[in-house]
Amino acid sequence: MIDLHAHTTASDGSCTPTELVRLAKSTGLRAVAVTDHDTVDGVHEAAGAGEAEGVEVVPGIEISVDYPQGEFHLLGYYVDFRNEAFRARIRYLQENRFNRNEVMLRKMREAGLEVSMEEVVEESGGGQIGRPHMARALLKKGYVSSVQDAFDRYLADGKPLHVPKVKLDPAEAIDLVHQAGGVAVVAHPKYMEYPTEQELAAELARLQGLGLDGLECYYSQHTEAETAQYLALARQFGFLVTGGSDFHGVSKPDVPLGVVYRGTGVEDEVLDRLKAQAATRGR
Ligand code: AMP
Ligand code: FE
Ligand code: FE
Ligand code: ZN
Repeated sequence: MIDLHAHTTASDGSCTPTELVRLAKSTGLRAVAVTDHDTVDGVHEAAGAGEAEGVEVVPGIEISVDYPQGEFHLLGYYVDFRNEAFRARIRYLQENRFNRNEVMLRKMREAGLEVSMEEVVEESGGGQIGRPHMARALLKKGYVSSVQDAFDRYLADGKPLHVPKVKLDPAEAIDLVHQAGGVAVVAHPKYMEYPTEQELAAELARLQGLGLDGLECYYSQHTEAETAQYLALARQFGFLVTGGSDFHGVSKPDVPLGVVYRGTGVEDEVLDRLKAQAATRGR
């Protein structure tokens, strides 16, 4: 069994890359993909740990993308993170996040929530800082009753302290993954939140025109009916099928590593097909 969607302390997961790989091993996974938000900083360490532990580490990233409905997430697998165009664009996203964090903390202070950057950094495990770390800092200071309460009251999109982050548009994000030799997959289509299957299909057709390779049909939060629906769409479009839990550790305590579909991981064949696709890009 495998799990192709997991976060580390490089973004908003609570396990270091090494801890993630060890957990994958003790969970009995053959392979785990490291897919941090807008960064590949955890991949190198995970790959080293994977060699030591005998777990296959799939290098990846989860890029936030702007589209008519708001934001969707694009997984990029087997991207060459030494690719200069790729690195430059990712660096740009990091710089924007840095500025955004400063603005959000200023808004917090203006709202009477005394949280310092040091306190937020402390929650981040040294990686990229985002809203989940601010939520944990707010919780620690007693301003909210839970991480979810912090989002519901202050941090969720449209709430008073939320500041949008810079996002790539779909064409650029897909091209960027391809330029770096990677495979581009739409993450958790459930969260694209199209009211009808027809509208989702129309969006997927548009993304296919931009070069989209695959769809994350198996996902810890997809119902059985949704999984069947996305598998049918993937078949219709000829998309590669992938699957993952979206493990974040303590930030999402009810999402365990390796629990993706019907209580277990994804079949190994999914990885074989993903690799075959990456091989067509020379990876
Ligand atoms: P950021 O990258 O800083 O915008 O933070 C995005 C992360 O915040 C997502 O990956 C989720 O883990 C979390 N998140 C976003 N919106 C919500 C929400 N409404 N409730 C709980 N968690 C959320
Ligand atoms: Fe996250
Ligand atoms: Fe996501
Ligand atoms: Zn994710």
